[in-house]
Amino acid sequence: MSKVVKFGGSSLASAEQFQKVGKIIRAEADRRFVVPSAPGKRFGDDIKVTDMLYGCYDLAEAGKDFKAELQAIKARYDEIIAGLKLKLSLDEEFVIIEKNFKEKAGSNYAASRGEYLNGIIMANYLGFEFIDSATVIFFDENGEFDADKTDKVLSERLKGLKNAVVPGFYGSLPDGKVKTFSRGGSDITGSIVAKAVKADVYENWTDASGVLIADPRIIDNPQGIEVITYRELRELSYMGFSVFHEDAISPVRKAGIPINIRNTNASEEPGTWIVGSTCQKSKYVITGIAGKKGFCSVNIEKDMMNSEIGFGRRVLQAFEENGISFEHVPSGIDTMTVFVHQDEFMHKEQKVVSALNRLVKPDTIDIEADLALIAVVGRGMKATRGTAARIFSALAHNDINVKMIDQGSSELNIIIGVANEDFEQAIKAIYDIFVLTKI
Ligand code: ASP
Repeated sequence: MSKVVKFGGSSLASAEQFQKVGKIIRAEADRRFVVPSAPGKRFGDDIKVTDMLYGCYDLAEAGKDFKAELQAIKARYDEIIAGLKLKLSLDEEFVIIEKNFKEKAGSNYAASRGEYLNGIIMANYLGFEFIDSATVIFFDENGEFDADKTDKVLSERLKGLKNAVVPGFYGSLPDGKVKTFSRGGSDITGSIVAKAVKADVYENWTDASGVLIADPRIIDNPQGIEVITYRELRELSYMGFSVFHEDAISPVRKAGIPINIRNTNASEEPGTWIVGSTCQKSKYVITGIAGKKGFCSVNIEKDMMNSEIGFGRRVLQAFEENGISFEHVPSGIDTMTVFVHQDEFMHKEQKVVSALNRLVKPDTIDIEADLALIAVVGRGMKATRGTAARIFSALAHNDINVKMIDQGSSELNIIIGVANEDFEQAIKAIYDIFVLTKI
């Protein structure tokens, strides 16, 4: 049995956190491959090392002095090394980093040093082999992750190794330059490593006890989710769940490796399992609620629209021509509405309107701004009657006007459009009816 264990920045922010992590890894011999993030925040308004590196590199690129900033970063690592009583010095590494910053090695290189250095410390602390991710994780000439090459080289490199530390967040381009994934990308590295070693489980250790049913900034102390499918999580991540990087799902999903989200600060808790499929019913009819503000609806009306072949295609063409992706397209007999991201649409609004006039000659075009979309997701909805009715009566009782309803054909989700100002209240009402009162 083998497990890949990825630890987030707050799990590795200080020597004390490293000790907790060391205990977790040593508790199970199966925890063989470790993917660390860079040191995160130790307290509320602390700064993550990744952000310090970006800031420091900005100075270097502008030709300004960055000695003090680089020294402050080194101090974060030295504090961890001293706290763990390791015989390790990063002095030489920092000489190289300083030189590369002066030679403008790029902000991707700069940011990647956070994970790289933490990986060196982790490997030293655990007595595991250190593998520089630039030598095993690859991007192509367009900067896209090269899954085939990576899988080949990485699985070969890890084959036969009992243990290893592979730092998260970065890899290299064909010309050897370091490139990072998007922010939070160590999750992706963990997933890639899990696939390469055909792990039995990918454990993702963070500072929350798994995935929560709803956003804790909206719901006080929301309950955790025990088991969630990849598809459910994908729907929720798309709508704003941020426990786990969206792009990290695909590699393990393809390989059928379950993900277990765990809490470094409460390691006894089972956390959340993210799986391909399960016979386990979720505790409630719904698995989770997520949402986003900032959408516009473009409502196109035309008499006899329903009999005009190609009408829908031409409507969407007006958006495509302007490089705008759409979210939802609910339609009536003589109306079709297109939901788009407000910030993407705003500057191109009149261009889209004139394209619509040219392509479909509508009777009217009505635009409404400041809308929010809420996704109510759950594999349990398919087998339960009255889910939609419960959602809408909860919203009606809270005086919330529903602007749009869209149920996916898989019956995995119901998407609801409301005014931005009703967003929080709507989520509370839905959480209340399914989780708290359970009626
Ligand atoms: N350290 C990087 C960030 O702050 C990557 C990660 O932690 O996953 O985004």
